[in-house]
Amino acid sequence: MLRAAASAAAAGALATGCDPHRDEDTGTAPSAGGPGPSGAGQVPPAPVRAARPPTRAPGLPVQIEHGPRTGKAVALTFHGAGDPKLATALLAEAERAGARVTVLAVGSWLDAQPRMARRILDGGHELGNHTLHHRNIDALPAAEAYAEITGCADRLRKLTGTIGSWFRPSQTRRATDLVVGLARKAGYPHVLSYDVDSLDANDPGAPAVQRTVLDSVGPGSVVSLHLGHAGTVAALPPILDGLRRRGLRAVTTTELVT
Ligand SMILES: [Zn+2]
Repeated sequence: MLRAAASAAAAGALATGCDPHRDEDTGTAPSAGGPGPSGAGQVPPAPVRAARPPTRAPGLPVQIEHGPRTGKAVALTFHGAGDPKLATALLAEAERAGARVTVLAVGSWLDAQPRMARRILDGGHELGNHTLHHRNIDALPAAEAYAEITGCADRLRKLTGTIGSWFRPSQTRRATDLVVGLARKAGYPHVLSYDVDSLDANDPGAPAVQRTVLDSVGPGSVVSLHLGHAGTVAALPPILDGLRRRGLRAVTTTELVT
């Protein structure tokens, strides 16, 4: 069923939108032995940063694709799933450069990696909802789509105290009107889309990810990226360098739009 499809996912070359070839990726695959450059087991016992409730951005559309074009900020937004070592390495690279990111977490990933919620918030990053199982939410009957949204919201509330700042639909760039309505019913005033697709889920290599992002990004951009991909981790420092050279800062999505 879903897991069988996910484990056979090597062929998914038709990616448009957010990682459509993976229904569920909880990062439970065995990792390579030996000490990594920044171990995933180093979550400090610090108090959890306050999790933000859903963001309301007056004057912006219900479905947000980008922030103000007149400012100097961009939002790097991540599909939250995959190997926690790669996720932790990516967050550390962002923090080293003074950047903050937005992670839209898949609920089943939070079940498998509950400590990642704290790690993301403790780094000053923003956390949101990317459905429970990362199914093609625009194609689901209303009741199932709603359960996908609230299932992830429940996990975020249990781990952080709120349902997260944002909702991003799974396997699609834009939500249908039905899904937008269901997200609002679940407590999210906006649906977070994006205007720059890094195509990093296809694993094209770090130079291609860097080029794709820097060729398209501009003031106000919301960039779609993925945790759990080594090429994305390697691409992040040069992406942040390129942004800095253009006078752009990577901030949380809430900071971008409010
Ligand atoms: Zn996704």
